[in-house]
Amino acid sequence: MSKSCGKCGGRMDQGILLELKDGNQKAITEWVEGAPDKKWWGLSIRGKRRLTVESWRCGRCGYLESYAPG
Ligand SMILES: [Zn+2]
Repeated sequence: MSKSCGKCGGRMDQGILLELKDGNQKAITEWVEGAPDKKWWGLSIRGKRRLTVESWRCGRCGYLESYAPG
């Protein structure tokens, strides 16, 4: 799959959005369906559809474009 940048027409390279937690634990950012369901203990994502986010970066201008195929 190849994409071109919507801003400048440059070539896009595929990557992921990485999240670093305490202790340097690595996690991939996910897309979660619906509005945020905030609870007193945090964020509830029970029963929601979750997809891994792919992020494409333009090698020319640095623009990021995210997709969550599924
Ligand atoms: Zn670009």
